[in-house]
Amino acid sequence: IIILGIESSCDDTSAAILKNEAILSNEIAGQKVHEAYGGVVPELASRAHQQNILPVVDAAIKNAKIHISDIDAVAFTRGPGLLGSLIVGTSFAKSFALGLDIPIVEVNHMHGHVLAHFIDDIENNELKEKPSFPFLCLTVSGGHTQVVLVRDHLDMEVVGTTKDDAAGEAFDKTAKLLGLPYPGGPLIDKYAKEGDANAFKFTKPEMANFDFSFSGLKTNVLQFLQRETKKDKDFIEKRLPDICASLQKTIVDILFDKLIKAAKHYSINEIAIAGGVSANSGIRKRLLEEGEQRNWKTYIPKFEYCTDNAAMIAITGRFHYLNGKFADQSVTPQARMKI
Ligand code: ATP
Ligand code: FE
Repeated sequence: IIILGIESSCDDTSAAILKNEAILSNEIAGQKVHEAYGGVVPELASRAHQQNILPVVDAAIKNAKIHISDIDAVAFTRGPGLLGSLIVGTSFAKSFALGLDIPIVEVNHMHGHVLAHFIDDIENNELKEKPSFPFLCLTVSGGHTQVVLVRDHLDMEVVGTTKDDAAGEAFDKTAKLLGLPYPGGPLIDKYAKEGDANAFKFTKPEMANFDFSFSGLKTNVLQFLQRETKKDKDFIEKRLPDICASLQKTIVDILFDKLIKAAKHYSINEIAIAGGVSANSGIRKRLLEEGEQRNWKTYIPKFEYCTDNAAMIAITGRFHYLNGKFADQSVTPQARMKI
């Protein structure tokens, strides 16, 4: 089975070709236009998707070395995401499939982040092991922070979620307070490597069950920076690595407190991470450490399958396809969509 995957939920236009469970190509066009605004501007994102989608799909087909008539189905992100962005991918998928007379499969973007673990991935000449069910997946991205109980490929339950900002927003918004450009998450990660994680202490929220909150941290960091820069106007410049390392440690602690609690509660030791923020080196390191200590089997997706990509949409589409679950041509995108 060959599936064309299309992802356009936020600011990356991506197309991938999946043959059975192996990725033949995974093309991604990012959008630089948003940098100047310190965040994604929905209207500009939608316009850039319109420009990018055709060349990206074209490149995916060429690089996969297949013919357009080899494609069996088109899987696309229906939601959640920015409506204007989703419309471009959805409309394209529908018309492309209509032209070829092949079925379409709608995909929930958050299923995609989790199921990225099921892409055939070769490491050291060996097929990387995939999680076995049930497993817990900590999905941390620009818009979501979820502890997901995964019972089967398409049987998932969100057992913990953020009540305000997502982990990615916690990184990006505090990075902005430090004067770092958008998206600041990867930069915090970079500077944290040279800093002392115990230099400063930031607040951790008290949240029930397996839920998260990050808005208090943002306020705490703002007040901390105002206080310190009043004393020394060059404080941020002088202590950037220490601030970043301490911040990253706090965010990682908040995430792992709940992940550990959930693992104990459900007696599950198959533990995965997913989403753009799972690219963070502090999170990856901590997962391996906890795994060693707690006898967890841990799973980390390849870097290119962490941030938004169409490969994860194609693999999710494959599971729907195998279940015979196809979408109708009347399908419309959904900005908000539950797992
Ligand atoms: P969602 O999937 O919830 O709709 P999204 O798709 O926009 O959101 P992703 O692309 O999965 O989000 O992730 C983007 C986020 O990941 C950004 O907030 C970015 O700062 C963060 N991020 C990427 N790399 C790192 C890193 N190394 N450290 C911390 N954060 C990172
Ligand atoms: Fe995403």
